[in-house]
Amino acid sequence: MITSDIIVDLQYGDCAKGKVAHHLCKDRSYTHILRYNGGCNAGHTIYHNGQKFVTHHIPAGVFYGIKSIIGPGCVLDPEQFFRELKELEAGGLDVKDKVFIAKNTHIITAAHKQEDATDNKIGTTKRGNGQAYRDKAARTGIRAESIPELEPYLIDLYDEFHNQGEVSILCEGAQGFGLDIDWGDYPYVTSSSCTVSAALSNAIPYTAVHEVWGVAKMYETYVGLKQFEPEDPIFEKIREVGEEYGATTKRPRQCNWLDLDLLNKAVRMNGVTHIVISKVDVLRTVGVWKMIKNKEIIDCTSEENMKQRLTEHLVSLGLDSKNIFFSESKEGI
Ligand code: IMP
Ligand code: MG
Repeated sequence: MITSDIIVDLQYGDCAKGKVAHHLCKDRSYTHILRYNGGCNAGHTIYHNGQKFVTHHIPAGVFYGIKSIIGPGCVLDPEQFFRELKELEAGGLDVKDKVFIAKNTHIITAAHKQEDATDNKIGTTKRGNGQAYRDKAARTGIRAESIPELEPYLIDLYDEFHNQGEVSILCEGAQGFGLDIDWGDYPYVTSSSCTVSAALSNAIPYTAVHEVWGVAKMYETYVGLKQFEPEDPIFEKIREVGEEYGATTKRPRQCNWLDLDLLNKAVRMNGVTHIVISKVDVLRTVGVWKMIKNKEIIDCTSEENMKQRLTEHLVSLGLDSKNIFFSESKEGI
């Protein structure tokens, strides 16, 4: 018997997937946690017992000793993988026999990173992500199973999920709907699918899926070369208060108000059952409550007013109000 919950980002990444994963792992008895897309372009900031960690490849289950797997929907940079294992160990975590890689996961090579380093069109994270997916699709890529140093970490995902009795898997995505290769603003996208469909191609049958946890922020951020932030000094303030600088590249994230039209699409296409709207405290500190609908700015009169309007909107999309959570920065929901 296999059951699964999926975490998916409804905006442009950086909406607190890592935090939600960390929270769900603490409360529930998952046997596995699976990263299902992306590479080390992702940067998940996680506060564990008050200590700050930034992970790129390894999913958040590792903080609770849950078997943490990098799935074949991901691309893996072995150098970054080993660096990250060391960092987690240095932070006091026991990672031994907890971290695994599906043997059919594709590898990011030094040549991929070199090529990505010259990008000046998309504003990539320069981690060789797109090049690794390109070679995978072109059938010229390298899989984890052909890298000897990775041998101790390799698993067969079919055996792991379908031949071991009861398993309960939390699927943790990377990037977000606005960066999805099909549904994002192409070519200003990443090179993988960032919807629940991406989780399913990691040996997760759709019949196993129970809850789909969508995450969004009370405002939006995007990192990359397209013009995203409107001209208004308020966004500089949001960036400062929200510490909106890339976890992977330290680049300033462009900011804008929460766009309900993007949210509609992402909630519907992902079949979201639960939603966490994070970083409410940032707008509280800045003292402005706005959203965008049909490309027009909606002024909300207060925090309560914005939460109420958002809740009504999400209920109109089919969400149950008890599954709508507003959360603050740092640990917990
Ligand atoms: P790439 O995935 O490194 O090729 O970058 C493609 C686009 O996705 C760029 O705009 C990146 O800034 C953005 N991106 C990739 N990963 C993340 C992430 O984890 N959070 C936010 N933006 C990301
Ligand atoms: Mg991030």
